[in-house]
Amino acid sequence: MLKVENLSTSYRTIDGDVRVLNRVNFQINENEIFGIAGESGCGKTTLLKVLYDIIDFPLQVDEGRVVLSVKKNGGTVDFETGRIRNAWWKHISYVPQAAQSVLNPITRLKTQFLDSIPEEYRKNETKQQTLDRVAHYLEELSLSPDILEAYPFQLSGGMRQRAIIALATFMSPSVVLADEPTTALDVVVQRGILMMLMRLQRKLKNTLVLVSHDIGVHYQITHRMGIMYSGSLVELGKTADLFREPLHPYTKLLIEALPRIGDKRPRTGIPGRPPALTNPPDGCRFAPRCPYATEMCRKHVPEFREAQPGRFVACHLVQEEASENVR
Ligand code: SF4
Repeated sequence: MLKVENLSTSYRTIDGDVRVLNRVNFQINENEIFGIAGESGCGKTTLLKVLYDIIDFPLQVDEGRVVLSVKKNGGTVDFETGRIRNAWWKHISYVPQAAQSVLNPITRLKTQFLDSIPEEYRKNETKQQTLDRVAHYLEELSLSPDILEAYPFQLSGGMRQRAIIALATFMSPSVVLADEPTTALDVVVQRGILMMLMRLQRKLKNTLVLVSHDIGVHYQITHRMGIMYSGSLVELGKTADLFREPLHPYTKLLIEALPRIGDKRPRTGIPGRPPALTNPPDGCRFAPRCPYATEMCRKHVPEFREAQPGRFVACHLVQEEASENVR
């Protein structure tokens, strides 16, 4: 469905190129909710932008590509980096970070819906017929069609977010990319938005790719997830497995830092900070914060390898243990 092959990207700066994604490889399947987690600045949003083919200066792809495969007329059509834009809205759509602020505040929502729906998708409909379909779709999502007459500033943050999600899913795309869709919303509204995304994914049986720094959000709704650190994937697998038995030390610390009901022990968070992308350390980039780091970790970059069926990890320690178990 969505394949990321050996993807490396950088941002151009006056001091030279800064690598933000390092040889990222993974695949996202049809009919799944896939989460991408990690601390701020680890490359999550950049990865999502490249998945959606928003590769505008100063961002550049140094190597690798993304391939979106969609079913069409009984066969499969591939769109790869540079051509994924041809699949926007109909096959792949994007709910950006702070989506509430991407709506034009001085244009009624109905106009923003009409402007976003490509002519070819409206076929020979009049504007009113298209709006009737939009109104019906909003009702299916338990949203009042009255919001079409509203200006964005007349709606609450949660309602604007729901409107953006409705817009992004109106054409039943095969893939929906959502970047921190619940950030800046209160917890009750957050839960409502997550439930809406889950219901939509079940109804459309499509693929939802959810980026969030909040690992609890991934626990609630994703089927599989990838953990990013300093521009690379460090662990990937089924979400339930990752939470039951995290393998990478960074994943372990992220999960241990989660608050739990009834557990009153103070949460300390992960000591230290992610390295500056302008001057990353040699070897494993997590080594300066890792309680298990060895000399080998500081010298050699661990490969992202399958440690268990369907479970990929970039850690020397995990790989040593996996090879000892095989012996
Ligand atoms: Fe820690 Fe070494 Fe694994 Fe990196 S490779 S996470 S430093 S044990």
